[in-house]
Amino acid sequence: MIKNKTWNQHVVKKENKSLVLETIRTQSPISRASIATVTGLNKGTVSSLVSDLLDEHLIYESGPGESSGGRRPVMLLFNQLAGYSIGIDLGVNYLLGILTDLEGNICLEKQIKFKDLSFEEIVDALYETVDYLKGNAPPSPYGIIGIGIGVPGTVSKSGEILLAPNLGWKNVDLKSMMEEKYSLPVIIENEANAGCYGEKKYGAGKDLNQIVYVSVGIGIGVGLILNGELYKGNNGFSGELGHMTIEINGTKCRCGNEGCWELYASEQALVKNAKNMGLPIPEEKEHTLESLITLAEQGITDAIELFNQIGDYLGVGINNITNIFNPEQIIIGNRMAYAKEWLTEPLMNRIKRQTLWFQQQDLTIGFSELTTHSTALGIAAFSVENFLLMIENN
Ligand SMILES: [Zn+2]
Repeated sequence: MIKNKTWNQHVVKKENKSLVLETIRTQSPISRASIATVTGLNKGTVSSLVSDLLDEHLIYESGPGESSGGRRPVMLLFNQLAGYSIGIDLGVNYLLGILTDLEGNICLEKQIKFKDLSFEEIVDALYETVDYLKGNAPPSPYGIIGIGIGVPGTVSKSGEILLAPNLGWKNVDLKSMMEEKYSLPVIIENEANAGCYGEKKYGAGKDLNQIVYVSVGIGIGVGLILNGELYKGNNGFSGELGHMTIEINGTKCRCGNEGCWELYASEQALVKNAKNMGLPIPEEKEHTLESLITLAEQGITDAIELFNQIGDYLGVGINNITNIFNPEQIIIGNRMAYAKEWLTEPLMNRIKRQTLWFQQQDLTIGFSELTTHSTALGIAAFSVENFLLMIENN
């Protein structure tokens, strides 16, 4: 009996601490009295929890705030500089690493571009990036609170990369490798899931609850926020919509299927089509998204036509997705978003022509606000959430 009571008190204290910290995080600067009013906790409880949080350097006191008369109260603020999070977007042909504070503000950034690297070479690039961000992080009470890596593949609930077809990876336990090397908590997540979360938290999806994030790079991945939560499916494998069939007699895909959406509407489709069309080869001897954007900017009709085709195929897949989920917002992100100027019109024409009229009501289709940073920001935010949970449970 007594044991049970103590346990319940412990749970209640944890819940109250988490409530107080969340209130300060979302409504700072705020006084102790206002926290009591907002949370319904009594002033003594608030005062004791605030003093714990001050000791833990998670909040700080600043000068007096507004008062309706009498003594002005001391205000409390969330200490977003208590620690730093490393977020990495591991793409098929790039690696973007950022260091953020606990509010998702980017403090440092490092980007490496590559092509056809071996697993070992990519891991070396990963180490180089983490070492740089870790080595240059400002001093703080908690230091680096975690490392998150968004990968272009299917990730199991335990963080194992089951399959990343465009990297040629199968059953890779990157999480254990990184944890062993850095002795820090490591989160591995599908890049589109992380990107979707990044957009919901900091980007175009703020305040919305039914969001589809379409990450268009070398492949296509889809992240889903349904009813306000990241939807990952039974085993974490949802959102493999880049591999939905859009041409039944289509090209063979590395995933084993034929006619996958990503073979027609991604960066790999763009580069392949450019080669087939015989577009002028740039100095780097190969077409890239950047070199084709340069041609489109110069008004080269064939290059513009290439992007228009991609936009049209994006519309075909987005029409299917809309019929499945009836979202309020579809965000197109990752590298292809750089070409939105030439994608938007054909994409929207396809939607206007083919998508059921009632599905088009209350639906916004647009491009990422965070451009290429959605995944890195989203995965960095996951580490912050975990870190704060750990502290609140102390
Ligand atoms: Zn496929």
